[in-house]
Amino acid sequence: MQLPPFEYHRPASLDEALATLDRIGNDAAVLGGGTDLLINLKLRLERPAALLSVRELPELAGVSVDAAGTLRIGAGERLTDLATHPLILARHPGLAQAIRAVGSQHVRNMATLGGNLCLPTRCWYTNQSENWRGSQIPCWKTEGQVCHVIKTAPNCRAIHSADSVPALITLDARVLLRSSRGERELRLADFYRDDGIENNALLPGELITAVLIPPGRARSVFVKAAARTGLDYGYATLAGALTGSNRAPKSLLLVAGSVGTVPLLLHKPAQIILAQGLTEASIEAAADAAREDLGEVTNLFTPPGYKKRLVRGLVRRVLNDLRRQKLPDAD
Ligand SMILES: Cc1cc2nc3c(=O)[nH]c(=O)nc-3n(C[C@H](O)[C@H](O)[C@H](O)COP(=O)(O)OP(=O)(O)OC[C@H]3O[C@@H](n4cnc5c(N)ncnc54)[C@H](O)[C@@H]3O)c2cc1C
Repeated sequence: MQLPPFEYHRPASLDEALATLDRIGNDAAVLGGGTDLLINLKLRLERPAALLSVRELPELAGVSVDAAGTLRIGAGERLTDLATHPLILARHPGLAQAIRAVGSQHVRNMATLGGNLCLPTRCWYTNQSENWRGSQIPCWKTEGQVCHVIKTAPNCRAIHSADSVPALITLDARVLLRSSRGERELRLADFYRDDGIENNALLPGELITAVLIPPGRARSVFVKAAARTGLDYGYATLAGALTGSNRAPKSLLLVAGSVGTVPLLLHKPAQIILAQGLTEASIEAAADAAREDLGEVTNLFTPPGYKKRLVRGLVRRVLNDLRRQKLPDAD
């Protein structure tokens, strides 16, 4: 498969990038590491006239902590560098695990955090060449009126499978968005939409410049079940972050990925742990309760019933790992 022709822009500053985005309008696509976007171009799922590379922009670089203890991660940072960054390893081991779970080492060497946060949803139908898709009925994403993953769905139910996202949501991360109109900040949990096509809140001409993680000492874990570790998207993933002790937990967030069109907060298991503490019995009860939060699970790569059983096992693993983990160092 060959790339279609496009103009290539490599602005030297964020202001130049935003001005170029405004000038070209909807025909421009933001390019991070290109590990997903270039494939989508080859599959003819997207047809931008111009690509605007943001990976080298100085304003999208760096990992730092401000005076209030907030961790800022530039959206142009490469995943390879983030997975081994001392600040991330020391404060947020679950986030480091999640970043390490993205694709292979080669993919992470190119991929950026901003690209992972804006990863389009996927399904078995759109993952094929234009010729192959032409032998089937088009779907919502390809100008048809059917969803190949959930036949009765009134919109696109392709799956959200960006591995860093569940981990960042458990840490209450926020995203910084910039356009020529100014800057705004959004909770990452509010950034995603339950629609496989318009899957996030980015406005035209806007890009992500950084992710902000508030201060706080939480134990954190990320686990992923995939066909081949070290390459594949997850059948299901689960991130957890816990504050307080095993006996008296203060807060617990559990977020599942690769089970639906948006990352999914699991309320029921968290309520059980907060009420009963982290014990063998409460972990079993929490794992059993996970099913109640799952609702409609996207039938992608595995049947939904299997995914529900899988999430039950992932909840058990995450809670056991959190129970054993030492509290990260103070800020
Ligand atoms: C073999 C293979 C395996 C993979 N496995 C996984 C996996 O297991 N888990 C996983 O999460 N991903 C996986 N991926 C997908 C992809 O590599 C990663 O999600 C990666 O992090 C995307 O980052 P990128 O910088 O390459 O994004 P790009 O491909 O450059 O861009 C992806 C999207 O983000 C947008 N974008 C990029 N940067 C910004 C920004 N700063 N602001 C706004 N929009 C932006 C682009 O316009 C595009 O829509 C895999 C890819 C391959 C090829």
